[in-house]
Amino acid sequence: MSTPPFRRILVANRGEIAVRICRSLRAMGIETVAVHSDVDGSAPHVLAADRAFNLGGRDASSSYLQVPQLLDAGCVSECDAVHPGYGFLSEDPDFARALSAVGMEFIGPDADSMEILGSKQRAKQAAKDAEVPVVPGFDRDTGDDAQMLDEARRVGFPLLIKASAGGGGKGMRLVRAEAEFLEAIAACRRESQAAFHSREMLLEKYLEPARHIEIQVLGDHHGNVVALNERECSVQRRHQKIIEEAPSPIVDTELRVQMSEAAVRLAKQVGYQNAGTVEFLVDARGSFYFLEMNTRLQVEHPVTECTTGLDLVQLQVLVAGGAKLPDLLRGRDLTPRGHAIEVRVYAEDPAQGYLPAAGVIQRVVEPCGPGVRVDSGVVSGTEIGVQFDPMISKIIVHGMDRENARQRLLAALRETAYLGISTNLDFLCRVLEQPGFIAGELSTGFLDANPELARASEPAPDLAYLAAALCGSLTPSVGRKPVAAGDAGPGTLPDVWDEGSGLRLWGQA
Ligand code: ADP
Repeated sequence: MSTPPFRRILVANRGEIAVRICRSLRAMGIETVAVHSDVDGSAPHVLAADRAFNLGGRDASSSYLQVPQLLDAGCVSECDAVHPGYGFLSEDPDFARALSAVGMEFIGPDADSMEILGSKQRAKQAAKDAEVPVVPGFDRDTGDDAQMLDEARRVGFPLLIKASAGGGGKGMRLVRAEAEFLEAIAACRRESQAAFHSREMLLEKYLEPARHIEIQVLGDHHGNVVALNERECSVQRRHQKIIEEAPSPIVDTELRVQMSEAAVRLAKQVGYQNAGTVEFLVDARGSFYFLEMNTRLQVEHPVTECTTGLDLVQLQVLVAGGAKLPDLLRGRDLTPRGHAIEVRVYAEDPAQGYLPAAGVIQRVVEPCGPGVRVDSGVVSGTEIGVQFDPMISKIIVHGMDRENARQRLLAALRETAYLGISTNLDFLCRVLEQPGFIAGELSTGFLDANPELARASEPAPDLAYLAAALCGSLTPSVGRKPVAAGDAGPGTLPDVWDEGSGLRLWGQA
């Protein structure tokens, strides 16, 4: 590859995404600077970077969201660009503007298009202007609840009330009957005020059954935008994605072309640059409706990378540096190849309403093998706190077709262990084995329709504990202390088998 457009990039994030971004930057010959809170000083994302900068603080608001400290980190370490990852400041136009004011490139869209698309109301208007079909509803809130009730009657029940500035399901309520409406909108306004400093709401017809299918787009600084196919993200809990795949089992070439063209029209309408995702709901007849556009790299971007052979972070950096898409892609065939599925591994207990779990991961065992990719942000000894998102890692597989990918993923999940903390691993296996999932019959209501999938896991039989203990005592593993020497040496990780601290495998003493 020719000379990289940036010499040193600050990665303004933590966890698996920061590790993953550092990998691409390193492969491009770009130096990386990590940032961290007081408690993340030896986290994997810090070890993945060439340098690190302590932002101070413990929780997100006192560390990763501190714009002055981030600017300081970038300037002191002489970075010429910042990659924001996802979450935190990745969709904050003021952060992009602040970087630009001190001469650092924000690796993402320009602040103005981010501002338009950050408002669900303005994004919908842009979609309508670009002749992209939107979910029917009402998006001209004047703050008058009685008027909203009238509009709700016109839209019809069930409907969704959504915070215009919302994200992550906050400020969103499903209202099935008119009598619930006024209380629900009051609650949404309160929630949105607290989280996003905005009381603006919109109403949407609740489409059910519907599938969540989104199009990855990429724009350059010269007005070119390409669509990089769809991802299906219909398996969701509380409207948040858990399993994502590409291609979608129901999208044929004709629908792919239509959805891609719509996504590109919207991106061009707002002068979109860099990577973004146009989200749609698709109804039972195959009609699609614009939901929102996310102005950043998505958690689920690896399934697009697997099926297109592209590195999206690398492309983000190159277009931010001024490269032209036709030169980068050189007429490449972007038709999806094979099938990829990603699962999000969470520290949580599905049987208790997906309650987040906290604690130290005593031992990490992650899978590998043909077609298996792990984007992880933890190692043995990592402490999972409640102050950040409980996602531990993502396991992504690529196979020659959907069934091959599904079987590879099941095998990979059975090889995976995060000991010492509750995870959703068993739950994910049950979902992958559910006949509807196998048949590709998905909808955003899939988990609600199959509540037994979130049941408590059976404890492993005693024989399994014995086998694990025997296996652990016989297998030399990373970090095991040399038998004769007292010093484990630099870079060795703590080994759970060397600890006399009352280890419990899967809960039983
Ligand atoms: P957020 O920005 O908070 O993530 P979205 O608007 O992206 O919210 O919606 C998240 C999820 O909520 C969608 O993937 C879908 O499952 C569900 N959803 C949103 N709008 C509708 C709708 N109008 N009808 C049915 N389901 C919807």
